[in-house]
Amino acid sequence: MEFKDFQFHPLIAAGVKAAGYDKPTPIQVQALPSVMQGRDVMGLAQTGTGKTAVFALPILHRLMQGGRRKVRALVIAPTRELAEQIHEHITGLGSKTGLRSATIYGGVNINPQFEKLRRGVEIIVACPGRLLDHIGQGTIDLSQIEVLVLDEADHMFYIGFLPDIRRILKHLPRKRQTLLFSATMPEEIRRLARDVLNDPVTVQVGHTAPADTVSHALYPVEQHLKTSLLMKLLRHTDTESVLVFTRTKHRAKRVGEQLQKAGYRASSLQGNLSQNRRQAALDGFRDGKYQVLVATDIAARGIDVSNISHVINYDIPDTVDAYTHRIGRTGRAAKTGDAFTFITREDGETVRNIERVMGEKIERRFMEGFDYKKPAPARDREFVRPPRARAPFRSGMTIERAQRRAVHTNR
Ligand code: AMP
Repeated sequence: MEFKDFQFHPLIAAGVKAAGYDKPTPIQVQALPSVMQGRDVMGLAQTGTGKTAVFALPILHRLMQGGRRKVRALVIAPTRELAEQIHEHITGLGSKTGLRSATIYGGVNINPQFEKLRRGVEIIVACPGRLLDHIGQGTIDLSQIEVLVLDEADHMFYIGFLPDIRRILKHLPRKRQTLLFSATMPEEIRRLARDVLNDPVTVQVGHTAPADTVSHALYPVEQHLKTSLLMKLLRHTDTESVLVFTRTKHRAKRVGEQLQKAGYRASSLQGNLSQNRRQAALDGFRDGKYQVLVATDIAARGIDVSNISHVINYDIPDTVDAYTHRIGRTGRAAKTGDAFTFITREDGETVRNIERVMGEKIERRFMEGFDYKKPAPARDREFVRPPRARAPFRSGMTIERAQRRAVHTNR
């Protein structure tokens, strides 16, 4: 199939050419015909598959007809970075159309957003919170929406945005085209899909990058499920030697014990150990007696094991610097080193800071077949919410300052 088969408006076909797209990707081949027909679509695809063009091109094509300066297409995304990326994609592909796209997200001054809305745009790419602010203040009119896109819906669910999404839906016309994209299908997303999609066409494409070529990934998970997820990852990943980082000494000890109990060759390394036991843990990890070593940052300083295949951040490090340190250690030691980081709802800001410094978005992954909904055990309060030292990042704080602050912790 060729791009010309989709019969885009000539100015949009020109945008495709200018973007250098030669042939449609598999998800584009599968989904574009249905989206172009105006059908609702459920797309099971990750970032990197070309999914943005699956909604961007038909939206641009549709908006070539009909009125301008009113909001006719709304894309909702979980993070500012993704919203910006989508916005850039749309403006790139639509560069010859005169159609306007604007982003709406929090953490930035709202006034320029008012101004853009006042001047008139046809496409909005928004994160839920700030969009609700605009709705509340009456500064956005969503009554003319013809197309709604929910991108990375599973990610939105994991960071707790679904109630906001449902609130936003109440302000949209019922008659519209809805496209929902998600990399995985937890039950909540199935339910959302049932509620928002009308007789949808489902398309699915597999992972584009095999796991072992990706150097790092984020795993959104509830706090109390981290140990189960860790075990599942260890079972399903080809790991030689795994260094697991926790935020506190107590957690390092406890996770080490849990792994041992489950039959893993695991040990822990934390500041409360005697020098002898510390040495034994290190030697055991170095000579392969232990496959997994659970450690705090400080205890793990100076670990020099050449065959570490994976670093798993059971708790996300407090600072970008600490993240780079943990990850860098693996990368240097074994060329194929992978780094996985478990993230919970509370970690959003730290993740954003890490991504900002790295200049790229880190892939979010979900384990297939893992029960993400299992409730927290009633007695296990410790693992429901970890003891957090001082918040390393405060809004407005520079990363350097945050890094200095984070030195004083209970590790
Ligand atoms: P996405 O999954 O939408 O984030 O797209 C991933 C990357 O693939 C982006 O950099 C797109 O510009 C690019 N892309 C999307 N569709 C095509 C295509 N048909 N040919 C080449 N590159 C594409």
